[in-house]
Amino acid sequence: CGIVGYVGDAKSIEVLMGGLRRLEYRGYDSAGVAVIDADGTLGTRKRAGKLQVLADDLEESPLPNGTTGIGHTRWATHGGPTDGNAHPHLGDDGKLALIHNGIIENFAELKAELLAEGAEFSSETDTEVAALLVGREYRATNDLTAAFRNVVKRLEGAFTLLAVHRDQPGVVVGARRNSPLVIGLGDGENFLGSDVAAFVEFTRRAMEIGQDQIVTIRPDSVDVTDFDGAAVETREFEVAWDA
Ligand code: GLU
Repeated sequence: CGIVGYVGDAKSIEVLMGGLRRLEYRGYDSAGVAVIDADGTLGTRKRAGKLQVLADDLEESPLPNGTTGIGHTRWATHGGPTDGNAHPHLGDDGKLALIHNGIIENFAELKAELLAEGAEFSSETDTEVAALLVGREYRATNDLTAAFRNVVKRLEGAFTLLAVHRDQPGVVVGARRNSPLVIGLGDGENFLGSDVAAFVEFTRRAMEIGQDQIVTIRPDSVDVTDFDGAAVETREFEVAWDA
């Protein structure tokens, strides 16, 4: 339902929780985050209920202090609103974390394919097939953007996807089809959001991502391509916001 991503030099958990608070108006039933620190430690936390439940949990036992991260508020469509069904979902044996807005219509067929390969599922969501598929393709390519390229074309329905992999600290990859995703441009830091509210506190410079496109953000770069990997034209705009 609400999505935020960050790479830079700030404490990402604060950027993520701030962004998720600004997205609360959309409604949600669960929330979760994933952060990676410079040593490549991936930490995730997810809880059913209000954002405050997650915030209290994080205060009691903090995640590693990473400067790369993704955050999600979920409005359940497949699988009830439980801790286990909340996002992020993991792939590549827990080395990758992925969040998703929307519905993957052909998830049953993709799940059957993964089960036949011996994959194990830990949720009832449609989202977990994307996490496991991107994880499988990461193992084949050692690159999160390439892994996305191998997967997103096969997903039917509506999705905004964001993922991080612990072996690529400083990288967040996203993709969208029939569901929104916007880039926030900073100095030595970049943002992704399901809408500009996710990052408007930090930057007013934004960039649109077109239908069926993949974006890779690093602290000093933003790359946008189509689902085949061809570069596309991007348009920067200034966010008008009275906050
Ligand atoms: N279909 C996904 C789920 O049920 C994502 C829902 C959302 O957009 O928050 O977990």
